[in-house]
Amino acid sequence: MKTIGLLGGMSWESTQSYYRLINEGVKSQLGGLHSARLILYSVDFAEIEAMQHRGDWQGTARLLVAAAASLQAAGADFLVIGTNTMHKVAPQIAEAVELPLLHIADATAESLKKHGIDSVGLLGTRFTMEQTFYRERLEKACIRVLIPEPDERDEIHRVIYQELCQGEIRADSRAGYLEVVDRLADRGAQAVILGCTEIGLLLQQTDTNVPLFDTTEIHAHAAVTRALAEI
Ligand code: GLU
Repeated sequence: MKTIGLLGGMSWESTQSYYRLINEGVKSQLGGLHSARLILYSVDFAEIEAMQHRGDWQGTARLLVAAAASLQAAGADFLVIGTNTMHKVAPQIAEAVELPLLHIADATAESLKKHGIDSVGLLGTRFTMEQTFYRERLEKACIRVLIPEPDERDEIHRVIYQELCQGEIRADSRAGYLEVVDRLADRGAQAVILGCTEIGLLLQQTDTNVPLFDTTEIHAHAAVTRALAEI
């Protein structure tokens, strides 16, 4: 089994989900007492969030490159960045270390293709919804990406940072998200990507008939597949 290097803490609420899902995945494949070989580098998210919101992406890249180098030195075989948003600096991280990077948007695109989806709604932070670094990976896989309207994006972003990343799960926020999911479906989305690793804490498939693609689940599952692959 290969050793997963997990760059986490963004936020730690979703890193818990990664840790559980990866271990459940290894156990379901290998059985018994098997669990994942995994090294976790968990950052102080307050530092990252402050840099994000003042546009200091170079600062976030420096911090995450140093963390990834620690994971490499500690013996990780490949890298998993446990947040959609910070894939904005995935190219700088991949360039600075020798570890292969399991990109969350590529794993998601593969899962969408496998399910025959070529038009999808995207929920995530404003950075993920509005900038190109994430959507372009999906569009390269010939998947059309629809994003919510500006006021909806503001609310989705607010809930992520002010509630979900702080462990607060509210029924009124869930209802608001579900309305956005329905509007994306009305506009032609065949499915909706939960493109922020905390959204799965708020929304489950049982809440809606619109197919949901939870990036935390997809990414964790892809990490297990990579860790257990022969090559
Ligand atoms: N975990 C979130 C994501 O998947 C947001 C936190 C962050 O900004 O990294 O985008």
